[in-house]
Amino acid sequence: MDFSISAEQRNLQSRVIRFAQSELGTEAEFHDREGSFDLAGWRRCADFGVLGWPVPREYGGGGLDLFDTVLALEALGYGCHDNGLVFAVNNHLWACAVYLTRHGSDSLRARFLPELVFGRMIGAHALTEAGAGSDIAAMETVAQRSGDHWVLNGVKSFVSNGPVADVFIVFARTSDAAAPQRALSAFVVTRDMPGVAVTDTFDKSGLRSCPMGEITFDECRIPADHMLGVEGDGHHIFSATAAWERGMMFASQVGVLRRLVEAGMRQAKSRQQFGRPIGAFQSVAHDLADANLRLELARLLLYKVAWLHQRDRTALLESAMLKLYVSETVRDTALSLMQLHGARGYLTAWGIEREVRDALAGTIYAGTSQMQREAIAQLLGLPSGLGARREPTGQAVRA
Ligand SMILES: Cc1cc2nc3c(=O)[nH]c(=O)nc-3n(C[C@H](O)[C@H](O)[C@H](O)COP(=O)(O)OP(=O)(O)OC[C@H]3O[C@@H](n4cnc5c(N)ncnc54)[C@H](O)[C@@H]3O)c2cc1C
Repeated sequence: MDFSISAEQRNLQSRVIRFAQSELGTEAEFHDREGSFDLAGWRRCADFGVLGWPVPREYGGGGLDLFDTVLALEALGYGCHDNGLVFAVNNHLWACAVYLTRHGSDSLRARFLPELVFGRMIGAHALTEAGAGSDIAAMETVAQRSGDHWVLNGVKSFVSNGPVADVFIVFARTSDAAAPQRALSAFVVTRDMPGVAVTDTFDKSGLRSCPMGEITFDECRIPADHMLGVEGDGHHIFSATAAWERGMMFASQVGVLRRLVEAGMRQAKSRQQFGRPIGAFQSVAHDLADANLRLELARLLLYKVAWLHQRDRTALLESAMLKLYVSETVRDTALSLMQLHGARGYLTAWGIEREVRDALAGTIYAGTSQMQREAIAQLLGLPSGLGARREPTGQAVRA
């Protein structure tokens, strides 16, 4: 087993860190306070190639393989202090561009991928509804065939990037089949289609520079060739891509974790109380020893998931473990960092309370911690409490 990364990969990470530290996140406090999207930062990401890292070169993307994409995103999360901006990038990439790359027809790919890669269009993913969160089988949004169109009706909640997005990957019920495996389909819907409206923009505690909204589809006519895959493929597409989303979306969070752990180490060495650095006190030192251990474990899990995906191997179990572990570790580490900084950690100006607020969301989006544990238990062969909705992979609910 080879744990080394190549000189080119190290160089890639260094370049991304330099870019992110010097050109992104400089106004993170402002965008957090205002709840505003950093369009200038977004354009700089497009210019640097971030928005096309995993997209094939023929569509203008960087054509990075999965492992290099993960390394680059880890570096982006480490270097960029605006976690909302990085979250917006992740949604754009994993919940829109990658869906198109993997499941779009040639014409959909040719039409949308260059726009997404060069930042001329912003992508979003509309799955959740008021009554269908963890349980996506309860989805009520419907699409009915009408000649060479589908007519979409429904309301999607909590759509990240929603208020600023131009392209939505939308999931809807296309048949009355009880089993979600056959009832759902996925569509590419653009903001300018008649009947698409942002009907709410949510104020939220963290990741405030990534706007989130409610999107309503009212008699929205979608050309039939805007379907991803074939009719009834929606659940399969969602499940297959969710494993990627869950795994890869957390690459940047491993970078955030490194930033938090390093900040803790600096504080432990520099802050003096009782005539010595606080890192000389055993409880502080042991907390930091544990934090470094968790960082190492998170990175190993991330690289293993990337390694599995790179070889087209199933990684449902490992992705659920990664999502669960990294999201909870980032949250716990951010809280410890606040404690380590005493009153300063609680001040807005130090940016640590923002890290805490940003970290809280990770245990909810892309499937809650409880649903990851449920999926892990099912994938390990334990009996399911979800009754008829269960399927062998444990993916019949959003996990
Ligand atoms: C920051 C953020 C960004 C998001 N971005 C998007 C997006 O871009 N697109 C999108 O479609 N959605 C998005 N979401 C929505 C997200 O996917 C859902 O919030 C999530 O799937 C949970 O659904 P819910 O909020 O309805 O909670 P519910 O499903 O109502 O769950 C409520 C609680 O009950 C628990 N629970 C539910 N069922 C079970 C069970 N079987 N066993 C044990 N516990 C259970 C849950 O774990 C949770 O603690 C986002 C959410 C957040 C916070």
